[in-house]
Amino acid sequence: MNLDIADIKHLLAYYQALGFDDLPIALCTKRNTAQEPDAHMDAVDKSSLLEDLRAEIGDCQRCKLAKHRSNIVFGAGSPSARLIFIGEAPGKEEDLQGLPFVGDAGTLLTRLILKMGMKREDVYIANIIKCRPPMNRDPEEDEIATCRKFIERQIQIIRPQIIMTLGRIALQALMDMPNLRITSARGHFYDYHGIPLMPTFHPAYLLRNPKDKVLTWADAQKVMAKIAHTSTGGTAS
Ligand code: SF4
Repeated sequence: MNLDIADIKHLLAYYQALGFDDLPIALCTKRNTAQEPDAHMDAVDKSSLLEDLRAEIGDCQRCKLAKHRSNIVFGAGSPSARLIFIGEAPGKEEDLQGLPFVGDAGTLLTRLILKMGMKREDVYIANIIKCRPPMNRDPEEDEIATCRKFIERQIQIIRPQIIMTLGRIALQALMDMPNLRITSARGHFYDYHGIPLMPTFHPAYLLRNPKDKVLTWADAQKVMAKIAHTSTGGTAS
């Protein structure tokens, strides 16, 4: 392994940006000094990085939701996903199974993904908050502030082409803009640290208001067009 000082400084800055306090040894042993940073990142096993993050979360007691949950719902899907869906928090079924978007809302999301020409395994699905709030109440400010760093790290690791937020709370929390309204924000791309972010309705809302499914489909079509544009060499934003 031939690392010069510049390489080491670069690696340290890189993993610090990903949120690591320590440099994972396994990643050092395969450094190819000829690789550019992006190529090196692609060589890194994103799945391992996500596993490391899950291990770091552990049996998290960092906020008051810990005492109400059955399972932490970390997230699921492809570590190399081009598209991430982000909701607000697990519901009853998610809490029981430890998986995001199961139950009726999850079925509706799966149908949307299929309609977009993908499978659930092709995308990544997670929430802003990893533990179920009691009685499915909205997550509170302190809970979001404590838990948000984990979804931010997941996004940093996966580096998707596009993010779709589902519902008002995910949008406001991720953009850190508490005054955004989902009805006016949906359908318009926002910029999340250089990644286009499309807000749309939460599937649970669409189950109660099926007439608005057409609006979410319009949002999804814009996302598909953006992915196609990026895949053919256009810029993401
Ligand atoms: S919601 Fe997040 S911060 Fe709170 S206990 Fe669960 S994993 Fe930890």
